Amino acid sequence: MKGEPVDYPIPSSTATTARMKGNRSQDTLPEMRLRRELHSRGLRYRTHVRILPGSRRRADIVFTRVQLAVFVDGCFWHGCPAHWTVARSNREYWQAKVDKNRQRDLDTDQQLIGAGWLSLRIWEHEPTGLAADLVQMAYEDRLYGPAGLSERPGDEPWTAADNALQTGRLGGA
Ligand SMILES: [Zn+2]
Repeated sequence: MKGEPVDYPIPSSTATTARMKGNRSQDTLPEMRLRRELHSRGLRYRTHVRILPGSRRRADIVFTRVQLAVFVDGCFWHGCPAHWTVARSNREYWQAKVDKNRQRDLDTDQQLIGAGWLSLRIWEHEPTGLAADLVQMAYEDRLYGPAGLSERPGDEPWTAADNALQTGRLGGA
């Protein structure tokens, strides 16, 4: 989705610092749009749920029954390859922050997989319809089994390894 027009400001300088300090990264506009679209498709979910025992981390959109966790990741905080740019003078500071966030994302994903969940990460810059398609496909895969499963030798059940294949970030470079 590189070069797609976006309708929200992309932080590019220290002027954004003040705004970022109060950023709770919940109920962002892209997330609200996605939720509305999913709801209109008849999908029902919970929001901002703590999934992992003993962890304060929350998934943005959660389908409990099929153990599907959806994260709508902000381009700035999570280091979207298409949009993440900062002034050179502050680069080190923000890079360290973003690196830390990405490490935490990865750790969250791994913990979710270990607990039998599928973690689906969507960049906030993704068009709502496409994002909803991806979530819906993942949901239906979890509910009915992934397409092509029956062709696999032995009809193995959906495994953590399958999950691992599907936790790559969507969109970006
Ligand atoms: Zn982006």
